[in-house]
Amino acid sequence: MEILNKSTLVLNSAYQPIEKVHWIKAFIKVFQGRARAVEYYSDVVRSPNDEYFIPAVIVCTEFSRLPRRKTTYSRGHVIERDNYLCQYCHRKLTKNSATIDHVLPRSRGGKSSFLNCVASCEPCNAFKADRTPEEAKMKLVRKPRKPFIHPLKGKIGEPEPEWTGERGSTNYLAGVI
Ligand SMILES: [Zn+2]
Repeated sequence: MEILNKSTLVLNSAYQPIEKVHWIKAFIKVFQGRARAVEYYSDVVRSPNDEYFIPAVIVCTEFSRLPRRKTTYSRGHVIERDNYLCQYCHRKLTKNSATIDHVLPRSRGGKSSFLNCVASCEPCNAFKADRTPEEAKMKLVRKPRKPFIHPLKGKIGEPEPEWTGERGSTNYLAGVI
């Protein structure tokens, strides 16, 4: 029975997607009044007296925060956080052309961390060299920060059309995948 493999997308009360669960878990939440369904599949589940549509997307009635996802420092995550833009001249970068600049240079004890590293083009990085941005009279487009990675990023697999608005009212995964 194909029906058994359906997943339901769970949104928190602010309509942010927070997890993907087996539809039975979602169905129980709705029955218990802890969530309400906002999209349904065309599949039904039968009890002796009734038929119910299987929920495709549910919203939790109680407030729940977006789970925080821990991200480890990596070159790729820094470049992604900085949207593939040089943080000094705003030039568009690719994964290959991007370099990582240590805001406080490594030679001065600067660490390889999200708070001390930014994406930079090669010319800016070479020009800055072993100087701080102030010494080099360069301005950072944005202060480096810890990146936000959505808890569902890379974990959705193939999204159901009911989740993305292709068959349903809304793209609940906008900005997530
Ligand atoms: Zn640059």
